[in-house]
Amino acid sequence: MLHPFRPEQLSSDVRPSESDVQSVLLSAEQVQERVAELGAQISRDYEGKDPVLVGVLVGAAVFTADLLRHITVPCSLDFVAISSYGKESRSSGVVRILKDLDESVESRHVVIVEDIVDTGLTLNYLLDIMRHRNVASVRVCAMLDKPSRRLTSVDVDYIGFEVPDEFVVGYGLDFAQRYRNLPYVGILRPEVYGGK
Ligand code: 5GP
Repeated sequence: MLHPFRPEQLSSDVRPSESDVQSVLLSAEQVQERVAELGAQISRDYEGKDPVLVGVLVGAAVFTADLLRHITVPCSLDFVAISSYGKESRSSGVVRILKDLDESVESRHVVIVEDIVDTGLTLNYLLDIMRHRNVASVRVCAMLDKPSRRLTSVDVDYIGFEVPDEFVVGYGLDFAQRYRNLPYVGILRPEVYGGK
């Protein structure tokens, strides 16, 4: 028999990985409030423009789905999946497209939806790809921004929150494919990823 979902039932035994989180940087409530504000702002800016939101898989899947529900103007949704070349955890900036867009974005107003902008290399590469497809315009909406780590200048038009130079997980962001299901953004214990 199916039971109604009640968030208060999500105890630590359902989310065993929570003990790996050192501290909560942004609560689920803070995140949701900001996503609603971003949605309202994008809706105002794209009135009559029929934008296409391009979510960057996998990290931005959760943010994209929430943001979409706060967009009040007609829009469409598409996804790209990318992966950095090489095995390093740090971004190389050279991106391989694992899954391309389903539809053409020629002459469309594109909003790239990212989880976090770190060095900016991935985003710059994606922006280049979009511009080569003759879009009407392209802007970026990132849930999190780590400006202290930028290696290349990149314009992020809509930013949820600036975060310090810490490895964060939750709200779609993973470490080794885990923690994406946390409804908040937390700082991972360095022991977990072998960090400082
Ligand atoms: P960039 O090319 O800007 O350095 O790389 C951005 C990508 O690196 C993000 O889309 C994300 O997948 C990953 N990344 C950067 N910082 C973090 C972080 O603190 N936590 C997690 N989980 N991923 C991160």
